[in-house]
Amino acid sequence: MSPGPTRVALLGATGSIGTQTLDVLPSLRAEGHRIELVALAAGRRVAELAQQACATGARWVAVAGPEEAQRISELLPAGVHVLSGPEGLEKLASLPEVDLVLNAVVGAAGLRATLAALAAGKTLALANKESLVVGGRLVMGACVRQGQIIPVDSEHAALYQALQGVRTGEIARLWITASGGAFRDLPPDRLAQVTPEQALAHPTWRMGPRITVDSATLVNKAFEMIEAHHLFGVDWDRIEAVLHPQSIVHGLVELVDGTMLAQMAPADMRIPIRYALTHPARAAVPPARLELPGTRLAFTELPRDGYPGYWAVLEAGRRGGTAPAVANAADEVLVAAFLEGRLPFTGIAEGIAEVLGRHEVRPVVRVEELEAADRWGRAAAGRFVESGAWRS
Ligand code: NAD
Ligand code: MG
Repeated sequence: MSPGPTRVALLGATGSIGTQTLDVLPSLRAEGHRIELVALAAGRRVAELAQQACATGARWVAVAGPEEAQRISELLPAGVHVLSGPEGLEKLASLPEVDLVLNAVVGAAGLRATLAALAAGKTLALANKESLVVGGRLVMGACVRQGQIIPVDSEHAALYQALQGVRTGEIARLWITASGGAFRDLPPDRLAQVTPEQALAHPTWRMGPRITVDSATLVNKAFEMIEAHHLFGVDWDRIEAVLHPQSIVHGLVELVDGTMLAQMAPADMRIPIRYALTHPARAAVPPARLELPGTRLAFTELPRDGYPGYWAVLEAGRRGGTAPAVANAADEVLVAAFLEGRLPFTGIAEGIAEVLGRHEVRPVVRVEELEAADRWGRAAAGRFVESGAWRS
């Protein structure tokens, strides 16, 4: 019997990862991969989501709230089910007619959908790194089978591939690479004056606004260290990040015998997205290819005295419990304030450190405890922005 199509729910369909996922579907189908889009979710861009639903024939959609649900209902053909709010997202992630959930929602808002998809036994293609940053232990505890989570984040997709056939005892260290972000060549004393437009001009990747700013502070890389720690079950002293401005090597597995297995690919998210959709098969006809002759690779250590946001968030990851949820919540608020012109760029790292410094870390057993920590972190970060403490 030939297997049926992979039936997909795409959460965060209107974003950078979401639209790139929709972009790769025609070429995958042309190659004979049978992928059917059943459900689409997004926040507020209702017209765009309605257009996507009409183009793909998705039978379920979910949006941020009841008002968006009302508006999108008027744009959709009869028979499309419309849901809203966090419950809508969870419902889409656990629909019986879905095999694979691609979670590309941005922020802690993606956590419940991740837990719902895993509990329902779905394969989870995970772009929403915040699920693992905020709720790593709960998320890994909800995994009911080996290989149920296929990482989409490029560094983790790299490690996932390089780890094929490697036994746990053979791993010396896992390495993830960092481009250094938009301000990697800027003297630190100029950082306080940079604008949102400058921060959004990433040297090697095209991504959504929050992760692009997180790449400039390197908070994104600390999130990815936390993500790797949980995903691959490797101790903190065996995970490293290294600066690699070319963004060609995405991750390396260092083995006990001195061998290093590296994954290399062009800096194009469509490659890990396609891998997650077709895994364990590989799609042919790549969207981009590396030209090896002439390619130069450089690796340098992360400076101990630079990127304060990176070190603060990494420390929160090591502490565990509610600390990474608070770090993420604070970062979401501080990045939004920076993008709105209410906080200087350097205020992001300052605010994260300030909020974490005041947080009393608690162990976490239930998702409600994470959500309470998230609310606390948001409120504390909001007060930091309003206080103007960063002006000193
Ligand atoms: P984005 O801002 O471009 O898109 C986010 C999507 O999430 C949008 O469709 C938005 O409508 C939706 N959304 C936001 N809040 C929602 C809510 N409450 N309910 C339902 N939908 C909601 O973000 P992005 O850059 O595509 O990133 C998505 C995720 O993938 C993030 O976790 C990011 O860290 C991760 N990621 C992105 C890239 C990249 O290249 N963009 C690379 C690696 C990892
Ligand atoms: Mg990444």
